[in-house]
Amino acid sequence: MAKDAALSLYLHVPFCSLKCSYCDFNSYAKLDDLVPDFVDALCTELALWAPIVRGRPVETVFFGGGTPSLLPLPHIERIMATLRDHYALANGAEITLEANPGTADRDYFAGILAAGVNRLSIGFQSLHDDELAALDRIHSAAEAVQCYRWARDAGFGRINVDLIYGLPGQPMASWQDTVERAIELAPDHVSAYALTVEDGTKLAYDVEHGTVPPPDGDLQAEMYEWAGGRLSEAGYDQYEISNWSQPGEECRHNLVYWLNGEWLALGPGAHSHWGGHRFADVYSPRQYIRLVATTAEEPPSPDASPATVLAAMKQVTFVDPQPASLQMADTAILALRLNAGLDLAAFERRFGRRFEDVYAEPLAETLEMGLLERANGRLRLTDRGRYLANEVFVRLLPD
Ligand code: SF4
Repeated sequence: MAKDAALSLYLHVPFCSLKCSYCDFNSYAKLDDLVPDFVDALCTELALWAPIVRGRPVETVFFGGGTPSLLPLPHIERIMATLRDHYALANGAEITLEANPGTADRDYFAGILAAGVNRLSIGFQSLHDDELAALDRIHSAAEAVQCYRWARDAGFGRINVDLIYGLPGQPMASWQDTVERAIELAPDHVSAYALTVEDGTKLAYDVEHGTVPPPDGDLQAEMYEWAGGRLSEAGYDQYEISNWSQPGEECRHNLVYWLNGEWLALGPGAHSHWGGHRFADVYSPRQYIRLVATTAEEPPSPDASPATVLAAMKQVTFVDPQPASLQMADTAILALRLNAGLDLAAFERRFGRRFEDVYAEPLAETLEMGLLERANGRLRLTDRGRYLANEVFVRLLPD
């Protein structure tokens, strides 16, 4: 990647008020005492990376979690000041913060907007109280709507709402009502994900013990199809398998992931893609705080190779070098999740090889199966391919 290529930053805030039943993210309830030390460590980690990526304009920043809106305003202000002091924030950089209803009010939103956050992603999940309670969400449907209104009142122009479908016992009509009520609020962006049962969650335990029914895949497919049609009718463009936006309101940060760009992810358990490696910080917030301090005692040389830098970053405890075969597969698979598909000329520019040559056999097979189509120099999933995307992806992975 060129030394002046754009860079994105992901900042992981690992705190939540309560653990939701379905959640396997690296997030923890009742660790509030750690917040000040965590913010110190995050600012230190930002400062440690800055000389290594100096000169690269930061186009997007994403505060994810966890629940970043649990961080009191002075902490957000301090992190934003650290970003400005140490990085070349691009003009018009997109700075998103994930907020959960029940943790933020109008004054908070006005404060973070003034600090430089300019996009919000609000976790609605459902607009039915019984479903929210079953997910162990901390808020009601009315609080979710109130949270959205406070954000708008405070002046936020770009807002995403997150929804989940296929909840245990959720009838189609209830999902349709959630989508309709979300559309009425006119968010700029909607993300809708199927509920999945992740190992180690309370939901997995309940499903295993028969107290909660497992999600119904057929019903989830119908819900997905219905939501796609309704959102498109309401003026939203689907640009990724699970994401819709009003024209021009795509999430620029997530597009960096889907275009297999480079980003640094800071904070406990956050996963980065930089310097030909995927790598992650240690999951435990306490160890993260300790290991960032250890790195600060002997910071890496800014001119060292990526592998040497990663070895010196003691908080980085997982490193996976990416051979070209994997980078090509990742680039193709991630781009195929986008409606725009894979730009074949861009693929050749990036890797010096034609996609058609590298993947001749799987390409012929998936075109024949009607899962992929070519148009205007791009390769895209067909409607059928969207439902059977894994059939395509598995054929592109290296052995
Ligand atoms: S608020 Fe989000 S990160 Fe926190 S427990 Fe719930 S789903 Fe997980």
